[in-house]
Amino acid sequence: MSKFSLLSNNSNQYTQASSGNVHEYGEEIAQLKGEVERLDLVTEAMWNLLKDKGFAEEDLIKAITDLDAAKKQKKKALEDGEKQEAQLCPYCHVPLQNNGQLADRCIYCGHEIITSPFK
Ligand SMILES: [Zn+2]
Repeated sequence: MSKFSLLSNNSNQYTQASSGNVHEYGEEIAQLKGEVERLDLVTEAMWNLLKDKGFAEEDLIKAITDLDAAKKQKKKALEDGEKQEAQLCPYCHVPLQNNGQLADRCIYCGHEIITSPFK
C-alpha cells in the first residue's frame, strides 16, 4: 500500500493477487511500475527545485547517506527490542493505528492525523 494514497491520482486499489494468476501479478506489477515512475518524476522535480534554491549534488548525497544511516540505526534498535513511540489520539488519548496509510487513525473516534509522511 502506498503512503501517498490520499493523492487523487492514486486510488490505492492494489489487491493481493490470488491463486497465482500470472495475469493478476502482471497487472499489479504494471501498477507498481507506474507508481515508481510517478514517484521518480516527483523526486526529480523536487530535486530540480532544490538545485534552483542553491543545493548541490553533495548536499543531496549527504542527506541520503545521513538518512540511510539513521534508518538502519532505527531498524537495528527496533530489532534489539526498542519500543516504537506511539502517537496518541488528541481526543481519546489512545495509540493511533497505521496500516501503511499516510495518516494514522484512531480506532475509537476515527480521527486521522498525518504524524509523518515518511514513516
Ligand atoms: Zn480518538
